[in-house]
This record gives sequence, C-alpha cells and structure tokens, in this order.
Amino acid sequence: MAAPPLDGLEVSELAYAYDGALAVRNVSLVVKPGEIVALLGTNGAGKSTTVGMIAGVLRPPRGPIRFADQPLTGSPSHVVVRRGITLVPEGRLVFPQMTVMENLQLGAHVKPRSQLAALVQHAFSLFPRLSERRGQLAGSMSGGEQQMLAIARGLMAEPRLIILDEPSLGLMPTVTQELFRLIQTVNGSGISVLLVEQNLHQALRIAHRGYVLEKGEVVLAGTGKDLLADAYVQRAFLGR
Ligand code: ATP
Repeated sequence: MAAPPLDGLEVSELAYAYDGALAVRNVSLVVKPGEIVALLGTNGAGKSTTVGMIAGVLRPPRGPIRFADQPLTGSPSHVVVRRGITLVPEGRLVFPQMTVMENLQLGAHVKPRSQLAALVQHAFSLFPRLSERRGQLAGSMSGGEQQMLAIARGLMAEPRLIILDEPSLGLMPTVTQELFRLIQTVNGSGISVLLVEQNLHQALRIAHRGYVLEKGEVVLAGTGKDLLADAYVQRAFLGR
C-alpha cells in the first residue's frame, strides 16, 4: 500500500556537488508537522549543503523535495519562503547597522504591509528581550540576542517550517540553553523546526527525532533519546 501523503517536509536521496566534488551523496529525511528534527554531524558533513538545497539557495539539487505534499525541488528561495519554509542561515546574518525593528521589517517582505504590525507584535511576544531593544542597532547587541533576532526575522514570513543552521555557534552554554528553550517555544506555537547543529547533546535534548550525517550521507536516524544512548554517537560525538 502506498504511504499516505505527508503534510510536512520529505526529501529523498538528495545529492549535491560543488565543482564535481560530491558534498551530499544520499540524504533522505522527513520533518512531520509539529516536530523538532535535529540534523547533526561534524564540520563538513554536508548539513548546510542539505538545508541550502531545501531552502532553494543551492540549485538545482538532485533528488525530490516535497513540502505539504507538493513538489518543491528546484524552486528558488523566494518561492520556498512563500510556500512556508524559512532558512535562518549560519552566522546570524542580521544587518548590524539597522535597528531590531528594521531587521524584523525586512523579514516580512513577502507579507502585505497591513500584516506588519501584528507580525512584529507576535515576534515580540515570543522574544520579549527584542521588544525592549526594538530601537537598538542590531550590531550592538550580544551574540545571543543577534541570534534571537535572526530567528525572529525568519518568523516574520510566518513559516510552517523554520530551518535553523547552527544557531548555537559561538554562544556560551548558558546562552545556548536559553536559545534552545526559545526554539521549543517557537515549536510550541505550531512551527516545525529543522535544527542543524554540531552541539549534538543539547540539540537532541529538545529534538523529537534526529539524523546524523557523515560525509554527505545519513548514517543514523532515531528519536533524540535513542540517538543520545547510541554507542556510535557516544563515541564519535560525545567522546565517551
Ligand atoms: P559546517 O558545520 O562546517 O558548516 P556542514 O556539515 O554544514 O559543515 P557543508 O558546509 O555542507 O557541511 O560542507 C560539505 C562539504 O562541501 C565540505 O567538504 C565543504 O568543504 C564543501 N563545500 C561547502 N561549501 C562549498 C562551496 N561553496 N564550494 C566548494 N565546496 C564547498
């Protein structure tokens, strides 16, 4: 019997080469509505390339990408955003010389102006610290606050799925913990999350499921709890 259509993200056997060198060879994954799914792996495993293909930043990918049971393969990023997927790229790419409010407004460029005030209000309800800093230049905020802003800006497009590429990079452990609590809050508001992380331990604590990439291939998949207990994960990533 054929599998029922999936109202989430489904990619099968994705592959991508830079100048003939395969960076992603075989990645299949699913993000169901309401899930936090971790995409894990060490430097160069192919995580950013995978999400770049899903978000339409890297084209054309090989392998079908479907979202909400519609094909998405090869769609450019502005179409992917309108279809309900937002990528928050690695490196908290906020505009440093613009205020928090201006950064948020940019995130809503796909939305009618009439919705802007409500969207900003919603972002501030999820991230009250940004509300206090609304007039501040983004570049003058701490790394953790800039990451919050990058996520809040991604939410301004009202995604059904938000992809976060290494949000904890360069942040102190306590700030990472706070950030991951906020990611859970975002997820609790009904948004699915694909969380790219090297910080495997913390990511798996909040993820419903996870995939481990190595050299462009999925080598392990399972629930957060199962992956944390897996002997390979313990050895390869947690140094045990
Ligand atoms: P990181 O955590 O360091 O970002 P990653 O798991 O996200 O790693 P990718 O950035 O997807 O991995 O890189 C996968 C492979 O593709 C690596 O070998 C990398 O050197 C290579 N690669 C990435 N971007 C490019 C590019 N623009 N041109 C050529 N090779 C690239």
